[in-house]
Amino acid sequence: MAPPYDLILKGGHLIDPKNNIDTPNQVAIKDGKIAAIAPDLPDTATQIIDVSGLYITPGLIDIHMHAYGGFNAWLFPDPHYLNTGTTTVVDTGSAGWQDFENFKDTIMDNSVTRVLAFLNIAGGGMTGAPEQDTNGMSARRCADTILQYPQHLVGTKSAHFGGLGWESTGGAIEAARLSNSITMVDFSPKPERTYAEMLARFSPGDIHTHVYSTRTTLLNDQQQVNDYAWQARQRGIIFDTGHGNQSFYFHIAVPAMQQGFPPDTISTDLHRRSRLLSNATMDTTMSKFLALGMPLQEVIYRSTWRPAEVIRRPDLGHLSLGAEADLAVLDVLEGDFKFVDSTRSHFPGRHKLQCHMTLRAGEVVWDMHGRSFPLWSDCLPY
Ligand SMILES: [Zn+2]
Repeated sequence: MAPPYDLILKGGHLIDPKNNIDTPNQVAIKDGKIAAIAPDLPDTATQIIDVSGLYITPGLIDIHMHAYGGFNAWLFPDPHYLNTGTTTVVDTGSAGWQDFENFKDTIMDNSVTRVLAFLNIAGGGMTGAPEQDTNGMSARRCADTILQYPQHLVGTKSAHFGGLGWESTGGAIEAARLSNSITMVDFSPKPERTYAEMLARFSPGDIHTHVYSTRTTLLNDQQQVNDYAWQARQRGIIFDTGHGNQSFYFHIAVPAMQQGFPPDTISTDLHRRSRLLSNATMDTTMSKFLALGMPLQEVIYRSTWRPAEVIRRPDLGHLSLGAEADLAVLDVLEGDFKFVDSTRSHFPGRHKLQCHMTLRAGEVVWDMHGRSFPLWSDCLPY
């Protein structure tokens, strides 16, 4: 008789915000899917892994990163994400309709991490300077590519546009409507096109990324969250973190969080320049929100189920029975930690998330301390 399960994670504390679970639980996996969750399961599995003292969560989802698009930006997803518990990433506009298929063939189809994308309204994506080339912007072609690849593309992207008009942001919004999807915008306002007007042009579900950057005016001169931001949130506009190199400032995040304006989604905007000094990895970015006073359960929610909802992928970000077994096993370290923002100053914190183990579709793909491996002397002779 074959054991009923392939693998059981035992001894952990499960946080699964979609299913309202925040209790000690065992998780059983069969054929890459969640097969059972209960405080006590019979020890009937091919492999049992002890994760006592650690948290088990759905695999993390980062809806803003760069896995393509030229030497200045991109990072291969697997070595920068699987070791942080992140199993799904959404590349944000690195490719446009002209180079999407190359992105898919080279990176998406060859990564263990699930790689999705927002398609840039600029035809050539972020390679070179096509984000300024309004001739390459075609809402129709952008939308048609999204409709052709619904399993890979979740919406459109506009970013880094320096022109005075609405060609980029307006085109990305139009392409999102044409493809029945959403847009994510990185906005650099001009007197001719303001942040408030951008939010007004959005439909519910559209995303402003870099919510705590200095480019846009989340706060007024009295350090209060502007009325138009509250109103946008009330009608369903999404505010994303998009930490990055130049887009996360504690002097904006602290008052905004104190006034009850957290980001909907925690994301990194991870790329070459944000990887080292600001260390905007998923686990570190989440730790910054712990330091800012966001409870752990909410940090997990805004890194799992909430981003899945935002990108309209309700199959992801939770551990319901039958869901793909993407999981993170996390520790919350205690100590004196320092977290760096885009000013290169630091913010102190007492807790830091550390990923011990990551499972993607039921396979252990990261195991920091070898919990899933046998004792060396049990394996002799080699
Ligand atoms: Zn970005």
